[in-house]
Amino acid sequence: MTEPETYDLFVIGGGINGAGIARDAAGRGLSVLMCEKDDLAEGTSSRSGKLVHGGLRYLEYYEFRLVREALIEREVLLNSASHIIWPMRFVLPHSPDDRPAWLVRLGLFLYDHLGGRNKLPGTRTIDLRRDPEGAVIQDQYTKAFEYSDCWVDDARLVVLNAVDAAEKGARILTRTACVSTRRENGMWTVQLRDSRTGAVTSIRARAVVNAAGPWVNDVIGRVAGANSRRSVRLVKGSHIIVPKFWSGQNAYLVQNNDKRVIFINPYEGDKALIGTTDIPYEGAPEAVAADEPEIDYLITVVNRYFKEKLRRSDVIESFSGVRPLFDDGQGNPSAVTRDYVFDLDEQDGAPLLNVFGGKITTFRKLSEHALQRLQKYFPKMGGDWTANAILPGGEIPNADYVAFFETLRMDYPWMPRDLINHYGRLYGARLHEVVGNATSLDGLGRHFGGNLYEAEVRYLVRKEWAQTVEDVVWRRTKESLRMTPRQKADFAEWFQSEMADAA
Ligand SMILES: Cc1cc2nc3c(=O)[nH]c(=O)nc-3n(C[C@H](O)[C@H](O)[C@H](O)COP(=O)(O)OP(=O)(O)OC[C@H]3O[C@@H](n4cnc5c(N)ncnc54)[C@H](O)[C@@H]3O)c2cc1C
Repeated sequence: MTEPETYDLFVIGGGINGAGIARDAAGRGLSVLMCEKDDLAEGTSSRSGKLVHGGLRYLEYYEFRLVREALIEREVLLNSASHIIWPMRFVLPHSPDDRPAWLVRLGLFLYDHLGGRNKLPGTRTIDLRRDPEGAVIQDQYTKAFEYSDCWVDDARLVVLNAVDAAEKGARILTRTACVSTRRENGMWTVQLRDSRTGAVTSIRARAVVNAAGPWVNDVIGRVAGANSRRSVRLVKGSHIIVPKFWSGQNAYLVQNNDKRVIFINPYEGDKALIGTTDIPYEGAPEAVAADEPEIDYLITVVNRYFKEKLRRSDVIESFSGVRPLFDDGQGNPSAVTRDYVFDLDEQDGAPLLNVFGGKITTFRKLSEHALQRLQKYFPKMGGDWTANAILPGGEIPNADYVAFFETLRMDYPWMPRDLINHYGRLYGARLHEVVGNATSLDGLGRHFGGNLYEAEVRYLVRKEWAQTVEDVVWRRTKESLRMTPRQKADFAEWFQSEMADAA
């Protein structure tokens, strides 16, 4: 019998936290294996509000540590991947019935000054009767504040971390569930099951990180047979996608009379992403879906502020995710901390590091802190390195995407503007790896609808672990939103016949 492969670190979960930790560890010289039971980011990390933000509303809950860390991370992440992360201005209409204007202004003053803001412009006050951002807002709202945060393609952030980890030597297994872990003589023996074939294999590892997000307790109990005094609280959040109904590039943030805030963000060019809700959730995380009362709630809040009235029939798509929040005993789901906490179980010299909570925004710091917690087990591993590192495709001079886009237009004069932007935004400086030697649209192979051509699909299968239609049209790209049902069906048929073996 052959000996199982042995790794320094085994990471359970290919969401943003697992992928971030695998990348950080591989860059420090550890041998790393990461397994994901479904697709990368198929859990919560493709279902977020897609903001790299300090979290203005967390100031009300005195989460100063988290907000400061997140504010600083905005520009760190912007510099590392300016193709998938970009600045956005948020217009917050003042509503006399909700928080007083002085309180909002004080929060924004702190937001501007808590740290890390060099590039992003600060807050300004807007007269909604005169400034263009006010044109779509109902007349009774006359004043607003405008502040900065950043937008991120969440699922691609996960994939880029996995690509970087793999390029630094990590092994990434998708559609592979960790089914058991047990300690033996100061090491872990781990059993993995290929979700497609059912085949079970064993590996060994010196340390295990449990980054299973909403499944973290399941892994502690069922998979590792361990205990933890900590746990996660599952809070569901849903979003709707509708046609965009304002002309600027800014987003809006509106307050509801239940004290919650709703984001109305420009999305995929001509659409808007609206969310989110905050509902305690006890079902299986895999089964989460937006329900009708949530969709009605989101539409009602928007209609309270905007002149144009959204209807149920405007909703193109909805999706829902489960926040794996660290359970700090708070009753109100909106008040539960958004900060992250570790639990290091060090029995028998074989560490298990459980990760509770954490946001997309703070994944890099969370990963750094996770590796610091494991430092004593790997005294020779490298130090912190990700603060100034670039994610794959982010090699864009001065993180200036606008100038980069102009260069691309000169390099690919035959490519339609929309398609250059699509490739530039998804692959950044690695665009040439997708396009290859093509010198015309024909050279990109079969066209499936929207911006999706065969060359891109083959790249995603070859380099980014795409194995199904949804991996391609929903998580690696958002072309699902641009394709007709007929085009999707044709693509599915082609993918099945052409790519099933390669994937
Ligand atoms: C509605 C909503 C809006 C949000 N908005 C924002 C936002 O705007 N900005 C922000 O910064 N954060 C936001 N968040 C928070 C953020 O999305 C999450 O905190 C983050 O995605 C959690 O990442 P994770 O890696 O811990 O979990 P996940 O992404 O869920 O990853 C865990 C992975 O582990 C895998 N797994 C589980 N068990 C096993 C096993 N036994 N074997 C192998 N794999 C396993 C799962 O399949 C899953 O893919 C939002 C969250 C929600 C729900």
